[in-house]
Amino acid sequence: MTAGVRARNESAWLLPNDGTRTNHRLRRDMRQFADTDEIDLVIVGCGAGGSVMLQRLARAGWRVAALDAGPFWDPDTDWVSDEAGSHHLYWTEPRVIAGSDPVPMGSNNSGRGVGGSMVHYAGYTPRFHPSDFTTHSVDGVGADWPLSYPELRPYYEQIEQELPVAGERWPWGDPHGYPHRPHPVGGNGEVFLRGADKLGIMAKVGPVAIANGRFGNRPHCIYRGFCLQGCKVNAKASPLITHVPDALAHGAEVRPDAMVTQVAVDKLTGRALGVHYVTGGRERFQRARMVAVAGYSIETPRLLLNSASSRFPEGLCNDFDQVGRYLMVQGAPQTAGRFDAEVRMYKAPPPEVSTEAFYETDPAQDYKRGFSIQTVSPLPITWAEHVAAQGHWGSALREYMTDYVHWSCLGALCEFLPQPENRVTLAGEKDSYGLPVARFAYSQCDNDRALARAAQTVMEDILHAAGADEVITIQRYAHLVGGARMAADERHGVVDRYCRSFAVPNLYITDGSVLPTQGSANPALTIMAVAARAAHHLAAGIS
Ligand SMILES: Cc1cc2nc3c(=O)[nH]c(=O)nc-3n(C[C@H](O)[C@H](O)[C@H](O)COP(=O)(O)OP(=O)(O)OC[C@H]3O[C@@H](n4cnc5c(N)ncnc54)[C@H](O)[C@@H]3O)c2cc1C
Ligand code: SF4
Repeated sequence: MTAGVRARNESAWLLPNDGTRTNHRLRRDMRQFADTDEIDLVIVGCGAGGSVMLQRLARAGWRVAALDAGPFWDPDTDWVSDEAGSHHLYWTEPRVIAGSDPVPMGSNNSGRGVGGSMVHYAGYTPRFHPSDFTTHSVDGVGADWPLSYPELRPYYEQIEQELPVAGERWPWGDPHGYPHRPHPVGGNGEVFLRGADKLGIMAKVGPVAIANGRFGNRPHCIYRGFCLQGCKVNAKASPLITHVPDALAHGAEVRPDAMVTQVAVDKLTGRALGVHYVTGGRERFQRARMVAVAGYSIETPRLLLNSASSRFPEGLCNDFDQVGRYLMVQGAPQTAGRFDAEVRMYKAPPPEVSTEAFYETDPAQDYKRGFSIQTVSPLPITWAEHVAAQGHWGSALREYMTDYVHWSCLGALCEFLPQPENRVTLAGEKDSYGLPVARFAYSQCDNDRALARAAQTVMEDILHAAGADEVITIQRYAHLVGGARMAADERHGVVDRYCRSFAVPNLYITDGSVLPTQGSANPALTIMAVAARAAHHLAAGIS
């Protein structure tokens, strides 16, 4: 297996094996294109979707550059194993939130910098189920994708090998195995497995994009639990170490600290010409034969709307008022349980054990679709936020904090449905570049609320069955996707099944924005697989 991965993507072997985490020579010798060069492809954003495009097309011999608004991280010098010290990893530019159930923005949605949000993601990497691609025709809710699960399967397999993913054989959805064996579980995972077993709920270890054993020059996990602060060890996968090194070795350029402000389109031909961007306080323009936007579900629709022109007065690709619509978050209630024995949930990666036993529509329930449950293991500051969200302050909050080692914590991901009015538009406010910021309106439907209630009941039952003497649940959200969705035609979405925009033939969107539904799986693996498929077809000239 390893030889096959290495032939396709050598990133893990291009990292140093001397105890440091960054191949400085590769970055120093990186190819640098001039703005006036008409390169083959310029990519906006070097996160989950953008970096896979970059690596695949660099391998195919394309002249390709990725521009990212944030820094080119060096884990040795830029990241700390400390919750309070990790705020610079998040996208903290202002955003306006609205709707009847507004979604708080900040650490829990998007990242900034090379590697994107996967730098501080948790590392769970499940596949979507085959049913996720046909929810409208099978369950009467959501949307059907213009591509099927079997069409995506080979790309799931490729990315699982490249991250690599560790876990038990997965019995749900399309049953499959993983390249690395499951990790040993810590206290929180043991609680989950014990409670689920008592209730007859199947739970499994994994799947996580965390090396279990050495992978190339990446060491195995040391189980210190700082995955959401950027793994300083290089055990947890992010594009910074899984795709960018190989891209650079094949002649790609990564241009950090470069904020793209507009995609330029020729008003006569309607084709993309390149991108306007700001770096070092200067406005510049990169010419390109093709443009791919991969800036995350909020920033991608915002950039398209900010790229309005005489040819596209309502925003780029927005002739049918589809840009920014059908944005989704997963309902993510979190339930903690207290045990007399110490759990010490911080002593392991937060993602350890999960169940997808409630993923599909259950005809016995009055709601459609379902939810997954996973260990989440908040560190102390996040634990304080959980307790404070329950209304505990002062001495009560202090007591919960000093009791931290006795608590276990589970999180659900509920498949909240895509709705047209859950959308990004432009606000009146401007950011530091003088650009209108995104306004994100979000409201839940009855099905969403029913799912969150059902998930809460199951999590509380599991923790009680495991022996918890007190349980507390908070409501929250996770994982934004959608906003420039893939569809059969331009009246129902923004891009086609190959991620090519309907409106501009040389403009692609290759990030989480294109997902028409979200299942109750964490999205990063699917985003990378969709981007790998788009890159494959683009390189082969199929689309
Ligand atoms: C706390 C947290 C935990 C998570 N845990 C998991 C998990 O366990 N499993 C999972 O699957 N997913 C998880 N996710 C979600 C996952 O990380 C994202 O869904 C995924 O990274 C999104 O990929 P993307 O390509 O759409 O965008 P990103 O990976 O966010 O990449 C977008 C990039 O574009 C750049 N950018 C944006 N706008 C511009 C612009 N105008 N010009 C230049 N650059 C720009 C940004 O700086 C960023 O680097 C988590 C996310 C968070 C925040
Ligand atoms: S627990 Fe493992 S994967 Fe997470 S930060 Fe530590 S070494 Fe990295």
